[in-house]
Amino acid sequence: MSQPPIALVTGGSRGIGAATAKILADQGYKIVLSFASNQQAAEVVVASIMEQGGQARAVQADVSSESEILSLFGLVDQETGTLSALINNAGIVDQPTSVADMSYERLERMMSTNIIGSFLCAREAINRMAVSKGGEGGTIVNLSSAAARLGSPHQYVDYAASKAAIDTFTKGLALEVADDGIRVNAVSPGIIETDIHASGGLPDRARDMASSVPMKRSGTAEEVARAIAFLVSAESSYTTGTVLDVTGGR
Ligand code: NAP
Repeated sequence: MSQPPIALVTGGSRGIGAATAKILADQGYKIVLSFASNQQAAEVVVASIMEQGGQARAVQADVSSESEILSLFGLVDQETGTLSALINNAGIVDQPTSVADMSYERLERMMSTNIIGSFLCAREAINRMAVSKGGEGGTIVNLSSAAARLGSPHQYVDYAASKAAIDTFTKGLALEVADDGIRVNAVSPGIIETDIHASGGLPDRARDMASSVPMKRSGTAEEVARAIAFLVSAESSYTTGTVLDVTGGR
């Protein structure tokens, strides 16, 4: 019997990543989801997928650590089936502040998690997916943000800049691997109801900002996950190097 394709969702234990893991599992992918520290949340997602008849496992791996990324991909290699989708979803914000007050440590954590982590996961995925390396091709979806074009002044310009880097990374990588069987796209969410706002010290941010969105509401993790699933699927088979806004018009 043929094995289901594997989808690796970084930061799949909560929010957009968890919603994406569930949708891709429904579509027949075997899910490997990673998390940073909240094992309990990760196991809840795994249990929910398995209750629906899907296959999933959770792996602790900090994407700001190259050695943990290598271990994560080593575990993916041990699964039966072929890695065919990578969702570079794990990402962080920090407390609202101005550039004038940003520490080196904050900037290093932001860039190593949001940018370098995505580069390294993509590197490992490409080395397994590329047709020229004996792979079967695949898709990569990166998580950008509307912040990349809005700049997030006096809040988190560092985060916004990290997501602008993701847009450029998406374009450049897509062109590098376009003839190697791999499509690379990004989704750029706006104000989405997840825990990320509380992690940045603004738990009510999604509700507070809803009226500033042209559609007059925040989005849900599922709405972003559906856009990610579209970019993973064959429905978008001629789409690469694009950034898809999921922002309610913002
Ligand atoms: P979230 O609810 O805060 O969940 C973050 C996920 O990433 C969790 O699974 C978390 O694991 C994991 N994670 C955090 N740091 C990590 C690290 N260093 N290594 C590995 N995993 C890590 O976030 P979200 O709102 O779903 O956001 C997901 C992505 O969408 C992010 O890239 C974010 O920038 C982007 N985005 C979100 C919004 C929004 O409004 N929510 C808007 C635009 C873009 P633990 O459970 O272990 O902490």
